[in-house]
Amino acid sequence: MTMLLNKVLRAGVWCGIRLQSSSTATASATASSSSPAPSLGFSFELTDQQKEFQQLARRFAQEEIIPVAPAYDKSGEYPFPIIKKAWELGLFNGHIPQEYGGMGLSIFDSCLITEELAYGCTGMQTAMEANSLGQMPVIIAGSDAQKKKYLGRLTEEPLMCAYCVTEPGAGSDVAGIKTRAVKMGDEYVVNGQKMWITNGGKANWYFLLARTNSDPKCPASKAFTGFIVDADTPGVQIGRKEMNMGQRCSDTRGITFEDVRIPKENVLIGEGSGFKIAMGAFDNTRPPVAAGATGLAQRALDEATSYALERKTFGKVIAEHQAVSFLLAEMVMKVELARMAYQRAAWEVDQGRRNTYYASIAKAFAGDIANQVASDAVQVFGGNGFNSEYPVEKLMRDAKIYQIYEGTAQIQRLIIAREHLGRAKK
Ligand SMILES: Cc1cc2nc3c(=O)[nH]c(=O)nc-3n(C[C@H](O)[C@H](O)[C@H](O)COP(=O)(O)OP(=O)(O)OC[C@H]3O[C@@H](n4cnc5c(N)ncnc54)[C@H](O)[C@@H]3O)c2cc1C
Repeated sequence: MTMLLNKVLRAGVWCGIRLQSSSTATASATASSSSPAPSLGFSFELTDQQKEFQQLARRFAQEEIIPVAPAYDKSGEYPFPIIKKAWELGLFNGHIPQEYGGMGLSIFDSCLITEELAYGCTGMQTAMEANSLGQMPVIIAGSDAQKKKYLGRLTEEPLMCAYCVTEPGAGSDVAGIKTRAVKMGDEYVVNGQKMWITNGGKANWYFLLARTNSDPKCPASKAFTGFIVDADTPGVQIGRKEMNMGQRCSDTRGITFEDVRIPKENVLIGEGSGFKIAMGAFDNTRPPVAAGATGLAQRALDEATSYALERKTFGKVIAEHQAVSFLLAEMVMKVELARMAYQRAAWEVDQGRRNTYYASIAKAFAGDIANQVASDAVQVFGGNGFNSEYPVEKLMRDAKIYQIYEGTAQIQRLIIAREHLGRAKK
């Protein structure tokens, strides 16, 4: 049993929940009359262990996140005390493999946790999720030594990492990035500028994508290299915290690399492999982003429902006006379908299958409905919804980024169309 899992077991005691190792959970699931027969091959029932993860995260969101989220939103302060508690409970970094001190959770299980954290505050969830994005290139492409050193660090201490790909001049068009890494002896010397890096000012290390082939005709699949960069390397200059529309306690910054020397041991796989690694990470990280958007949408729905059952106009609660109840029904449909979409995308990648199609469907759909549902929640609240004393105004601001980061809504549609037409042509 891993160190981190032990922490979660202790966390289970804290919450009155006893989390179990996989083997004991399987045994109790077999014994439990509520568990589905495994032979059916298709089931919407979570295992007992998954329910425990979900319950722990739900309780953490209710007790630790929700009471302080408005204050963090107002101050923009990085929520390190909450992140530290979540780390102690094993609520993020879950998919770091057990041999490197992690819990080795599936993407599906991580998504269940992410949805609950996002229900509490997506600014905090994004800060934690950015660790998954920063780690994923190392998980999928790191050597044993790289994993031991850099993933191991994150399980020993509540440290953050970040994914440094976007630049001021290139976001969607990743192949257009200009940061250069030039090999000099046993090192690479990096110069360039990155932008919009979540955890940029808090990370202990970065995944960095830089161009190593100067020939403009070189295909993207060979022109870029992925590096691990210690944040305290001389020449790494961290910009100011950006003031964003929503998710304000998440730390987003520009980072300049000026003659930054990276040892060749920190190259992932080999020179020229970076583009595939950077893009491949998204198959694992887009389902959790979609889960985050679903958590926000569920929160907006719950807030709108409670309000609609209390607020009276024309002699009855507004939930009894058909127009309002139908609006709630539309919101319910969207939340349920977004959840199914992220769960399918996560399940596919956990089966070892290429899930690009499902990951983009989930990310695009959940990002869109989070915006629609949050906006509808503001509508249900009427004038109060427009005011920061009520929770839904924050949700509407927080939702927008789900249509932008980790591939915009338009880029997801490009991917879905490419995958769909590719299948049709076969
Ligand atoms: C808060 C925040 C956190 C972020 N965190 C990170 C991070 O941790 N690491 C990281 O590397 N990046 C991060 N990003 C960057 C993010 O991934 C990019 O902003 C995003 O990919 C879009 O790139 P862009 O901003 O350059 O927009 P552009 O690529 O310039 O796009 C502008 C508009 O044009 C549309 N568009 C572009 N190309 C096409 C096309 N071919 N067809 C149709 N429409 C198109 C886009 O959809 C968009 O609407 C973050 C951004 C923000 C705002």
